[in-house]
Amino acid sequence: MKTQVTGLHHITAISSVVTRNMQFYTRVLGLRFVKKSVNQDDPGTYHLYYGDYAGSPGTILTFFPWAGLRRGRPGSGQAYATGYSVPSGTLACWQKRFAELKVGTAAIEKRFADEVLPFFDPDGLRLELVATGEADARTPSPSTEVPAEKAIRGFHSTTLGLIEPAPTAAVLTVSMGYRKVAQEGHRTRYAAGPGGPGNYVDLLVDPTLPRGLNGSGTIHHVAFRVPDDATQNAARTQLLESGLQVSPVIDRAYFKSIYYREPGGVLFEIATDQPGFAIDEPVETLGSRLSLPPHLEPHRAEIEAALPKVN
Ligand code: ZN
Repeated sequence: MKTQVTGLHHITAISSVVTRNMQFYTRVLGLRFVKKSVNQDDPGTYHLYYGDYAGSPGTILTFFPWAGLRRGRPGSGQAYATGYSVPSGTLACWQKRFAELKVGTAAIEKRFADEVLPFFDPDGLRLELVATGEADARTPSPSTEVPAEKAIRGFHSTTLGLIEPAPTAAVLTVSMGYRKVAQEGHRTRYAAGPGGPGNYVDLLVDPTLPRGLNGSGTIHHVAFRVPDDATQNAARTQLLESGLQVSPVIDRAYFKSIYYREPGGVLFEIATDQPGFAIDEPVETLGSRLSLPPHLEPHRAEIEAALPKVN
């Protein structure tokens, strides 16, 4: 069975101060705080999730906040930028909003048929609003801060900064079901499934890009979605056959995951769409309490006492 990844599932980044991170993604960007959990590999720190109302795959940006962590530098060998889909014609409004709220931005650029506004979160994470005329039927999270007609509808794309793109392109096309759909300047675009916003991976080979340094304000990994366990198992077999080292399947409560590092240096994950974020709390109250995996539940009191307050 040939592996068919169906698009982006979630993207995980590293931040420093928790409260600043929470305020930026919920108030400034108007995303929903979908889940408050802990880093399963380091339960003394949070794992925070922001996305649409239901926490749909393809909308979820997650953070490991480590207080006092040194700042990294987005660059090559990393997922350099994370693109969000917004309706065409909305960038001027966003630019005004970012100026009022003192959010750092870069000049609007033209990319394929779209306009792109790069901006930076409080840790320097490189984000982009991609104002696209392509169809995007996803419903944005209701927000008191951002009107629905301008709101973020989910991911548009991830841009991987690479020095040598061919091996990464081979993993995407041979082992994951992506296909090349466009090329312009230093950028080559790959699409999964039906294509469109949420399904793009751009490979950027730009000699002016600095070498990426890990730290706050950088991407930790990019997760791709598959519909079910069988597709994930087939993907794992195929990735192993192509010579990559792949983790066993790990149960992350909201999805099952496998991990591997692609040849350009970026940590990839393949995650299942099921069971999703409503498995341990109702959709209506997502993110309102600390969610713990069953094996950590007996330690809830100590874990809660040690974590900083976020809201
Ligand atoms: Zn992940």
